[in-house]
Amino acid sequence: REPPVRDSVPQAGDPQLRLLRRIGVVDPESLDDYRAHGGYAALRRALDIGSAEVIRQLTEARLTGRGGAAFPTGRKWEATAGQPARPHYLVCNADESEPGTFKDRVVMEGDPFAVIEAMTIAGFATGCARGYLYIRGEYPRATRRLRNAIAQARERGLLGRGILGRDGFDFDIELRRGAGAYICGEETAIFNSIEGYRGEPRSKPPFPVERGLFGKPTVVNNVETLINVPLILTGGGAEYARTGTEQSTGTRLFCLSGSVRRPGVYEVAFGTTLRELLDLAGGVRDGRRLRAVLLGGAAGGFVGPDRLDLPLSLEAVREAGTTLGSGVVLVFDDTADLPALLLRIAAFFRDESCGQCVPCRVGTVRQEEALQRLARGRGDGADDLALLREVGQVMRDSSICGLGQTAWNAVESAVEQLGAFAAGGSHE
Ligand code: NAD
Ligand code: SF4
Repeated sequence: REPPVRDSVPQAGDPQLRLLRRIGVVDPESLDDYRAHGGYAALRRALDIGSAEVIRQLTEARLTGRGGAAFPTGRKWEATAGQPARPHYLVCNADESEPGTFKDRVVMEGDPFAVIEAMTIAGFATGCARGYLYIRGEYPRATRRLRNAIAQARERGLLGRGILGRDGFDFDIELRRGAGAYICGEETAIFNSIEGYRGEPRSKPPFPVERGLFGKPTVVNNVETLINVPLILTGGGAEYARTGTEQSTGTRLFCLSGSVRRPGVYEVAFGTTLRELLDLAGGVRDGRRLRAVLLGGAAGGFVGPDRLDLPLSLEAVREAGTTLGSGVVLVFDDTADLPALLLRIAAFFRDESCGQCVPCRVGTVRQEEALQRLARGRGDGADDLALLREVGQVMRDSSICGLGQTAWNAVESAVEQLGAFAAGGSHE
């Protein structure tokens, strides 16, 4: 069953769009149509300029990862390309599971050949023999379209041996479907899943660029990160870096949902303010007042209505103590029940913890229990707030992977900045 994405791309056809420019315009099932809309020009350019120059262009563009952590993509590619061990692998992380995130789905359904072309460029630049596209199991339409795109590309010599007639450039893509576990979006859990083991994260370092899939150097990139690459190659890295802010170049896909008039995926330049983004989506639904916005997803944090002029750039949100994460902008109006929402988030983390390490396995349970007591208004709440802070800090400091490290983020911001349990146990 395919879950609906309401009004998924409200701006389709807008000439200002870059990453979304073909969505709703190109036939997602036709390689010829993709080519007619500029497809595969970037791969040709990559072959012309060579792998080192491709990476240099990426570095000049200052592209950062769009999965959530914003690591510099050029640095990641360079580190993988320079590893002497062979073979190298590429993994496209399409296991988009962060609650409130649906941008990669829109891209994969609407412009699947762009993902395949970008993966092929990444394979060329980093010397990968094989790419794995690890896609969330709940995305059947995207899966079908990507399978079709891979098959057509293979048939036309754009995957396989001697791509575009270039001797020695052999690269192919295998699609793997996840089976519903949130943790399988964590990059090293993906490796275990592909290798046929239980989807549990591995300790880092070593980072995947050195020892990843099957113990070999592996570059892992999110779907949105990858589809920036053809743009950079065709327009040039320096030109790309002219959009956005000093530390956050290019555009970003944001997933607007909750109490907004027109939910969907919006593409804006980094540095656009939260207010401008909400205005694009028609503002708060039913003329209600804004209570809070969850930025970056469950691993991100809440901001209150006083932060509407926050520029959406990596540096500004870092300064504000939150993150853009995977592009979630989940809007709550003044009818929102914050304690109930926090309980839902805590239950999510408790449920999705893989249980491998104690701080997260036990901490997510303790966090939920403390929130339950606070929501019921038991006692004066001071002990439970202190416990929440202590457990949250331990999870952040000592969990193996990002799930445990960020399980306290959203709760912390609601408690400390929105005063979710302000009266010490009583709630709104
Ligand atoms: P991370 O900071 O550990 O790593 C980010 C990337 O950079 C990884 O690919 C990592 O291998 C690489 N890296 C980091 N340091 C490196 C180094 N020194 N050398 C080489 N490579 C290095 O973050 P993470 O745990 O991979 O991701 C956390 C983020 O994931 C969170 O910010 C969260 O928002 C996001 N997230 C996204 C989704 C989604 O559905 N898109 C779901 C859950 C979480
Ligand atoms: Fe598993 Fe949580 Fe530990 Fe990550 S932090 S390895 S999800 S138990």
